[in-house]
Amino acid sequence: PKTPRGVCGADADAIVTRNLLRAVAAGSGCYIHIMENTARNLLAIAESGGRIRGEATLARVAGMFGVSGTDSHDTAAKIARAVLEDLYRPRFDVMRLTEKIAYAPRFAKWRELGILPGGAKSEVFDGVVKSSTNLNSDPVDMLLHCLTLGISTGLYGLTLVNLLNDIMLGEPKLRPAAVGFKTIDPRYINIMITGHQHSCFTHLQEYLVGPEAASAARAVGAEGFRLVGCTCVGQDLQLRGEHYREVFTGHAGNNFTSEAVLATGAVGMVVSEFNCTLPGLTPIAEKLLVRMYCIDDVAKKPNAEYRRYNYAEREDLSRDIVRSAADAFRERRGKVRIDIPADHGNDDTLTGVSEVSLKEFLGGTWQPLIDLIANGTIKGVVGVVGCPSMVSGGHDVLTVDLVRELIARDIIVLSAGCSSGGLENVGLMRAAAASEAGPGLRAVCEKLGI
Ligand code: SF4
Repeated sequence: PKTPRGVCGADADAIVTRNLLRAVAAGSGCYIHIMENTARNLLAIAESGGRIRGEATLARVAGMFGVSGTDSHDTAAKIARAVLEDLYRPRFDVMRLTEKIAYAPRFAKWRELGILPGGAKSEVFDGVVKSSTNLNSDPVDMLLHCLTLGISTGLYGLTLVNLLNDIMLGEPKLRPAAVGFKTIDPRYINIMITGHQHSCFTHLQEYLVGPEAASAARAVGAEGFRLVGCTCVGQDLQLRGEHYREVFTGHAGNNFTSEAVLATGAVGMVVSEFNCTLPGLTPIAEKLLVRMYCIDDVAKKPNAEYRRYNYAEREDLSRDIVRSAADAFRERRGKVRIDIPADHGNDDTLTGVSEVSLKEFLGGTWQPLIDLIANGTIKGVVGVVGCPSMVSGGHDVLTVDLVRELIARDIIVLSAGCSSGGLENVGLMRAAAASEAGPGLRAVCEKLGI
């Protein structure tokens, strides 16, 4: 900086932490939006007697929250209400479920530091207020607010979203699955989905393999409908794909790969509900006659038809998506060249990894993994998660290079989000990737066949 302070008198610490808090509040707002919709969807399913696929998770979460109902639906409704009550509390009212979800010693430390979150939406709101012009200029206070937002975002926006999705859509099961462009079959009406809110597709993924959709597909000369998974919601479908193999044949790609997926010409519609629905999809869609359909306006694109997902109107929404996708299929045939690289991806990417499925695989205890780390065979576990970018050599290059380096040093990599999309497409989640690992990790993978 040319001067030690801004014209208002703010120093560099105040300016930097203010910008950080604003960014953290925005990120937290995104995840809490997902949490809110997920809990509302669970409540709607529970109150209408809809299908609950994850009874084991329902029992687990009920035990965690200390709630019980007269039956599964009543229990699910109580769980959803408890989450929503917490999200809507004022900021001075500490959220009740934090203590029930968090690791106890860590919760004690948060309480000691005075950073337990009040209502998650209020925390975001005041984060935006604090970071506005000439409001908070205490860097320590703003950093502590970032920590508070981190707690509500992690526990509610990530942990609870996953658990509630497992209740509605079924628990992850370890299995080999197909990934990459080879999962796209041009004989079908392919709908690419982008976003983060798996529960908004609960009805659509059933409807697309039902009789009405089958006849709509036949009428335009297609074999049926398929969902093509891209971005985080594609990973969600991949994770829980054991429960609906017919409509979802594998995860095609991650954030930036979605542009290339459209460029194959084999996808006639994009249904979006969150990030990452890239603005770059718009001109490709216009050129290749791809219909854009948005079901949550937080991800609205200028060329997208918008109809908000709402559980009560799910049937109408799914019907409208089928109608529009079938029209697009008919309209595009013969006008758009289809070119799918058949050798892109593989059929044996390990998926369905959750803290439950992994522990089951290890014999119901973490001890084997702890022993391998304690005796030095495996050096540790590193998380490579979230969003790959175009920097550092190009799309996915840094992620893939970093992971190759880590496994060569006998370090297990835990990945999630779009990092997984890149890693699986280059084959690093196949059993064959053990050959790239260091001697300790390689021997363990080969022995277990993973
Ligand atoms: S992991 Fe990141 S890049 Fe991928 S969809 Fe989620 S937010 Fe977007």
